[in-house]
Formats: sequence, C-alpha cells, structure tokens
Amino acid sequence: MKKQAPPRPVCLRVEKNSELTPNMRRIVLTGEALLDYPEITTSAYVKLLFDLQGQPLSAPPTSKDDVLMRTYTIRALDRQNKTMSIDMALHGNGSEDGPASHWAKHAQPGEQILIAGPGKTKPLSENYDWVLFAGDMTSLPAISAYLERLPKHTPGYAVIKITSEDDKQALTKPENVALVWVVGDEEELADTVAQLPWPEGTPAIWAACEFAAMRGLRTLFREQRQVAHSQIYISSYWRQGRSEDQHKIDKRKDAEAFAADK
Ligand SMILES: Cc1cc2nc3c(=O)[nH]c(=O)nc-3n(C[C@H](O)[C@H](O)[C@H](O)COP(=O)(O)OP(=O)(O)OC[C@H]3O[C@@H](n4cnc5c(N)ncnc54)[C@H](O)[C@@H]3O)c2cc1C
Repeated sequence: MKKQAPPRPVCLRVEKNSELTPNMRRIVLTGEALLDYPEITTSAYVKLLFDLQGQPLSAPPTSKDDVLMRTYTIRALDRQNKTMSIDMALHGNGSEDGPASHWAKHAQPGEQILIAGPGKTKPLSENYDWVLFAGDMTSLPAISAYLERLPKHTPGYAVIKITSEDDKQALTKPENVALVWVVGDEEELADTVAQLPWPEGTPAIWAACEFAAMRGLRTLFREQRQVAHSQIYISSYWRQGRSEDQHKIDKRKDAEAFAADK
C-alpha cells in the first residue's frame, strides 16, 4: 500500500508563554490551521522547526538539511478555539541548552513557528489489571494526558522524575493510581520503579525518559518482571549529552541491537 504523505507543516503563532513550574513552560500556540487539524491520539506529538542557528522557522526551508526538528507532545488541542498547548521542560544554560529549550525560555506572544505532524506513539495497552507509567519531565505531558483519560477505578502507579521539588504538578488521575515523584539523577527513576511492590495480574506499561534510564527500565520490565512486549510502550525521549538529531541515530541502533539480541 502506498504510504500517505505527511501533512504539510503549518505556521502557528505564540498566544501565551507561561511558567507551569520552575523548569517547565506551557506554550499555547494558535492559528487558522488548527480549525481543521488532523485527529490526534493521546501522547501524539509534533515537530517544532528551527533553522540551523536555532531560530524558529516561519516559512518552509528550501532544503531539509537546513532544518532542526524538535519533538513535543500535544498536551491539549482545542480546534474550536484554535489553540494547541505544549509543555516544554527547560534544561541547560547559555550554550548548553538546545534550540527548543532556548526558545521555550524566550518565545514572545505573536512570534511564529512552523510545526510538522502530528505523529503518534504506540498507545497504552487496553488489556490490563493495573497500569504503570514511568517518565521524567519530557514525558510528564503525555503521562498527564493518559492519567486524565483512564477509567476512574484504575489501579497502578505513575512514577515521575522531576528536576526539583517545585516541579511537582497537580495531576488529575484515578484515586488508586499512586503518584510517586522522584527528585534526583536519571537512574533513580528505574531504581524507584524496581522497588515498587509488583501487583498480581497483567500490567499495561507506558514509559518514556532519558536513554540510559530507558535501558534500565527495559531490562527491568522484559527480563526481571517478564512483561510481554504487547503490554509495554517504552521509549527514550532524549539522551544526556546528545542533541535530538544525534539521539535519533543512537535510538535506531539501540532498537536494532535489542531486536537482534532476542
Ligand atoms: C515522542 C516525543 C515526545 C516528546 N515530548 C516532549 C514534551 O512534551 N516536552 C518536553 O519537554 N520534551 C519532550 N520530548 C523531549 C524533547 O524532544 C528533547 O528533550 C529535545 O532534545 C529537546 O530539544 P532541545 O533543542 O532543547 O535540545 P537538543 O538540541 O536536542 O539537545 C541539546 C543538549 O541538551 C540536552 N537535553 C535535551 N533535552 C534535555 C532534557 N529534557 N533535560 C536535560 N538535558 C536535555 C541534550 O542531551 C544535549 O546535550 C519529547 C521527545 C519525544 C521523542
């Protein structure tokens, strides 16, 4: 079957840029293109487009070699009011931050940016006795969106690694999903998940975080806890010391090596 061409990037305008917590900003984008924006699934994402100097693009580049793409979850989409919200974790200072984090710190209302997408990730399995979410500030937007949509009596855990105590957010979630905040190094996410009492029955697992932390979690789920592939979505959303473009290459190699090892 012929693969459908992805929708053309659309140009949106910053309506609002506000602080959610000290290390997370919410950017509300607006534009006519959102009136008939394609259907999205929970945890769907878009690509923000920048030029090679890290400036947001407002017109399509002449070559795909002249563009830097950064991936962000659609936290909310309101077609009627023509708004799309994305929650962007801040990292690094000065030359250490990337174009997206830098833009999130400085974007002013009225500023334009091209976005491509939407794309979707493998959804949370619908067949489960309990759920387990594990992530960090980059996957907090997706996890928040999943928790909001779960049936009221769902049991389980959401373990989220944050940069500081003040980055905790009030989340809408089922009462029996225990929320565990972790403040510390990346590896503490997998360590904390490993120490959770493991309930009886079938889990549905959704995990996304830093590359090394993802590998720790993957070993825990697949080898130690013997969870079936169908019950797990696991992905690295970024890698320490590597830009998104470099991380994409690492991710592909890691997936191939993991598949070859099976
Ligand atoms: C499907 C998907 C959905 C995502 N959704 C979101 C989202 O909703 N919100 C969100 O904040 N992020 C999200 N991310 C992660 C985001 O795309 C990356 O963090 C991205 O690398 C940030 O781009 P940048 O231009 O700021 O930094 P880059 O230019 O990519 O990297 C520059 C440097 O910053 C470091 N770096 C990158 N991200 C982080 C970080 N989070 N913490 C510490 N150091 C970092 C890199 O290791 C590198 O050394 C998502 C990723 C994927 C794959």
